[in-house]
Amino acid sequence: MPVVCSQCKEPPCADVCPVNALSRIDGVVRLDKDLCISCYKCVDACPFGAFFAHDDCKAPIKCDMCGDNDPACVAACPKEAIRLIPEQALGETRRLGNLLSYTHMKEIEFYEKGEKKVIHYTEVGKEKL
Ligand code: SF4
Ligand code: SF4
Repeated sequence: MPVVCSQCKEPPCADVCPVNALSRIDGVVRLDKDLCISCYKCVDACPFGAFFAHDDCKAPIKCDMCGDNDPACVAACPKEAIRLIPEQALGETRRLGNLLSYTHMKEIEFYEKGEKKVIHYTEVGKEKL
């Protein structure tokens, strides 16, 4: 199963960065490549393995919600396993989640045109929603 950055509210990756190159802005943990010194401590610190090193890139790589908060992973998923859910719809989703006794439900919060939205993903199949 692919791992998606959770845009942690208190991101461990940012905690270990020695040059404060990682900041959580409008719900998205962003990497400032101009500040980054490529120490890769963030890669080791992420508990989800959602920070990556790549030989072709000087700085590590992480999800930035595709920059425009229109994530390509959401558009590409043929099973709609990753979805954007507006904040106001989350309560209902959580209620359904409780009914189904979810054991693995995660959220990514971000802002789009001033509106708080959340990517909500789970290991439960769409047909059960
Ligand atoms: S690789 Fe860059 S972003 Fe990651 S901890 Fe080091 S300086 Fe910070
Ligand atoms: S890269 Fe890892 S630690 Fe950093 S915000 Fe994403 S999930 Fe959290």
